[in-house]
Amino acid sequence: MTGRIGMTKGRCECGAVAFEVRHIRETVTVCHCSQCRRTSGHLWASTHARFDDLTFTQDAGLHWYASSETAKRGFCARCGSSLFYRMNDESGIGIAAGCLDDTSALRIGKHIFVADKGDYYARPGDADVFEAG
Ligand SMILES: [Zn+2]
Ligand SMILES: [Zn+2]
Repeated sequence: MTGRIGMTKGRCECGAVAFEVRHIRETVTVCHCSQCRRTSGHLWASTHARFDDLTFTQDAGLHWYASSETAKRGFCARCGSSLFYRMNDESGIGIAAGCLDDTSALRIGKHIFVADKGDYYARPGDADVFEAG
């Protein structure tokens, strides 16, 4: 059972998207897939929350990109920060760990799509890989 962390705030780099989340998952998933690598510039590391627990305090910059027929990615159209990932049929939302104000209680839980990783960095230790791609 994965723990949850209480009220957490986050924002994009420029502040045109800002939000509060009542509870987030304490574990971070690091995705090495080519789509995450392109949209983030390297890896996409995210925690997760119930969408109902998310409140936008600023969403002037928020745009959604349909990255596939089944999912979309939320980003700031002003500064380009990669912020969210959401399956079209899910009740939750993936939230970029890097956009949170306080990450002190978070830890990496698993790496996914490791087989798709870039060639320029080392594969994570096998002990870290809970779900190999
Ligand atoms: Zn922004
Ligand atoms: Zn990915």
